[in-house]
Amino acid sequence: MTADLAQRIVAFDLWHLALPVVSRRDHGIGRVEAEVEVVVLRLTAEDGRHGWGEAACWSVFTGSPEASLAALDRYIRPHVLGRPLAEAAGMTADAARAVAHCTEAKAALETALLDLTGRVAGLPVWALLGGCAQAEIPLSVSLADPDFAADLALVERLAADGVGIVKLKAGVAGHRFDLDRLERLRRDHESLDIRVDYNQGLGPETAAARLRDVAAFRPGFIEQPVAAAQFALMRRLRAAVEVPIIADESVFGPEDMLRAVEEEICDGVSVKVMKAGGLRRAQAVAGIAAAAGLTAYGGDMFETGLGHLAGAQMIAATHAIGLGCEFYQARYYLAEDILAEPFPIREGRVVVPRGPGLGIAVDPDRLDRFARQTLTREAA
Ligand SMILES: [Mg+2]
Repeated sequence: MTADLAQRIVAFDLWHLALPVVSRRDHGIGRVEAEVEVVVLRLTAEDGRHGWGEAACWSVFTGSPEASLAALDRYIRPHVLGRPLAEAAGMTADAARAVAHCTEAKAALETALLDLTGRVAGLPVWALLGGCAQAEIPLSVSLADPDFAADLALVERLAADGVGIVKLKAGVAGHRFDLDRLERLRRDHESLDIRVDYNQGLGPETAAARLRDVAAFRPGFIEQPVAAAQFALMRRLRAAVEVPIIADESVFGPEDMLRAVEEEICDGVSVKVMKAGGLRRAQAVAGIAAAAGLTAYGGDMFETGLGHLAGAQMIAATHAIGLGCEFYQARYYLAEDILAEPFPIREGRVVVPRGPGLGIAVDPDRLDRFARQTLTREAA
């Protein structure tokens, strides 16, 4: 073991942040407006280096920021503070057992451990995960504004920025609204890769007929049309339309992915670090999907650039995720991000950082500005 990895983690600091956003967004599962809340974790090693991680939560989907804060501070911290960095995988295993669910909190821990290890070792996180399979990742931006004129203006901006993929959030304001938006987007942006995400918004009575109408507009895929637990219905809908069906809320971790494969509910999966409970478990989800001949997409929650970095580093090292990513919030949705430099997007693609750790640090001044609560803990 090198001396650097023998050093202990001597501080474990948390921020519960509320970050203003630029517009309201409606999804099948719920609404986001005014601000999004995340929890940020900072680990400090004996040499003073930091590792950063984010728990990005959505109460109607994965969990709450309050639960993430409690999971990290009360249940996970005792398994981390004071331990040598070399035991990182033991820490994540202990954290997984210490508190049920709370996948975003576990993701924050593994992200911070990989960031810190990478900074100490002088290697990017993607190198720690096995090396780079894709240095740039095509970006998809979601359209979910109840004011469609505002989304049309966003699409013009995206075209100017070189973004070639959008995901239309559907199943909220009526089927006619969804079809009208698809028709307009298809008419005005012929070459745009349009995907549709229902966020569980359809019921069993209408889902098949609505998906057939939507399929006529040739979306790249249709994501999670019905409730997460409705595996049998997902399977029937998959048989009803030619367009690939992607599972999101139905599949959190590798265990769900195995069941999704066995029950043939989807043609692909939205892989998220926050759902899986970490980068390596997210890679496992993608690996299982690939082994079953399914596609994978790099999804996210309502994240800052810090959460995006964890996802981008994971996808960079994961050949099986071939449908791009949706790390757009830092640039297109938050009024202000928390990274010290802009999250890197160029010509419609996320450019994965090549520096040590996550590659970009957090700006501590912004944490203080957006903090609702701060918890500072040092090793005895
Ligand atoms: Mg989704």
